[in-house]
Amino acid sequence: MTSSVPEQSPEPPTWEEATPLRVAVIGSGPAGIYTADALTRQRRVPVHVDVLDRLHTPYGLVRHGVAPDHTKIKGVAKALRRILEHPSVNFVGGVDFGVDLTREDLARSHHAVVYATGASVDRRMNVPGEDLPGSLAATAFVNWYCGHPDSELERFVLDAEEVAVVGAGNVALDVARILAKTADELRHTDIPQNALDVLAASRVRTVHVLARRGPLQAKFTAPELRDLLELPGVDVIVRPEQVDIELTDVGTGRPELRRVERAARTNLKLLREQAARAPREGPRRIEFHFWTRPEQILGTDRVSGLRVEHTRLDDEGRLEGLGEYSTLNVGMVLRSVGYAGVPLAGVPFDERERTVPQEHGRVLDTEGGVVPGDYVAGWIKRGATGVIGTNKSDAAGTVRSLLADSPELRAAVPDPVDLTEVLAARGLAVSDYEDWLRIDRAEAEHATDLGRGERVKLGAWKAYRKALGRN
Ligand code: NAP
Repeated sequence: MTSSVPEQSPEPPTWEEATPLRVAVIGSGPAGIYTADALTRQRRVPVHVDVLDRLHTPYGLVRHGVAPDHTKIKGVAKALRRILEHPSVNFVGGVDFGVDLTREDLARSHHAVVYATGASVDRRMNVPGEDLPGSLAATAFVNWYCGHPDSELERFVLDAEEVAVVGAGNVALDVARILAKTADELRHTDIPQNALDVLAASRVRTVHVLARRGPLQAKFTAPELRDLLELPGVDVIVRPEQVDIELTDVGTGRPELRRVERAARTNLKLLREQAARAPREGPRRIEFHFWTRPEQILGTDRVSGLRVEHTRLDDEGRLEGLGEYSTLNVGMVLRSVGYAGVPLAGVPFDERERTVPQEHGRVLDTEGGVVPGDYVAGWIKRGATGVIGTNKSDAAGTVRSLLADSPELRAAVPDPVDLTEVLAARGLAVSDYEDWLRIDRAEAEHATDLGRGERVKLGAWKAYRKALGRN
């Protein structure tokens, strides 16, 4: 009798050994990096993630959207850095999707593509005079003070004494705050030196913040409002009659509105306290104008005023003009009325919503069918709403769909090539994570040379090329 040795089933490959599911993430802002995080955190499906960005620098709006003086929020970059340094995550900078590289190119190298390109352009107010010199998008101003390399560094001249900021969101408050601060208060931030010089020479004395609806409908949040109200040397003017509101107006009591209501109540409380305060002595002031919408930007060769109409909500809660007008003597208008997404080559786009149509993160075509292998996360998925952390759960939702589809995704691309092969075929000179660290170090050295804080943004393509030794 022969004794049979039980056959041992081979050990399944470890996560590191198994052929990974290859995912390309387009955009290295919070949505893109949280997508990489959700993919690499799970242990069920082995993955390799290439995070591509048009810029040589990662972190998207954390780097080029969060105001320089919001250092605590900027601290999230440390957590994003840890994710980018995961062994299964690879950062590739200097690749403009749709220009340098197409979806077809990535079909050779990846099982799936996640678009996380955000909402990079401004919305318009559609009023006469919007294109006059001196009328600008807040996004352009934000890009400038955040040192975005596309920003024209010489663009902003702050020679007007009065400026109007249109909109009642957090970006409007950021912009108003930066305009009201002194250069000394911003000196130790990472604001580019040229922007700091322009702010030091600024003639701005009054910033008007215009909200087309009332204090309860404002989109800004309490921490940002507090920041503004507590600015030293800045008199923030809130007219008592504009905040004398019955709290029963706050909402309908529907449970899903309770959080919004709480936020609105806090805003109202802060604004009421401010309205009751004695005027503060100081060189600069910020004045809130609720129930005020832009009607026309005045001027012939540059902005010389802003004609506004006063508004109210009708019984149905719709905004209506009162037919009563006034004029603000401003020399500059910054519209801060929201961000919009930009269409991506070969990817379906909803022009009205300015987002990519999707269901549970899966991209949908014009007939509502799923586009195999294409996913979306962040602002390009849900519109420009929410705070940085919102992107974490948003990305996790998309990744759940992607992982559920992984058998079909693998079957569709049985033998993917490495991204380097695709990039080489295109003759692209890209940058990698080490290159970003070079820029990172150059910005720290720049700060030391200037005797300012931990980092000063280089803020120009030329300066990046120099830091990368590519003159
Ligand atoms: P937002 O929150 O959507 O605010 C846009 C504002 O513009 C609203 O008050 C809106 O009024 C107004 N508006 C829109 N169209 C207008 C028009 N034609 N004329 C006059 N006013 C108009 O957008 P955002 O300020 O750009 O912010 C985008 C996102 O980034 C938000 O989720 C924001 O919270 C976030 N963010 C957060 C921080 C932070 O946490 N510190 C900083 C910056 C940005 P209606 O409400 O009447 O439409």
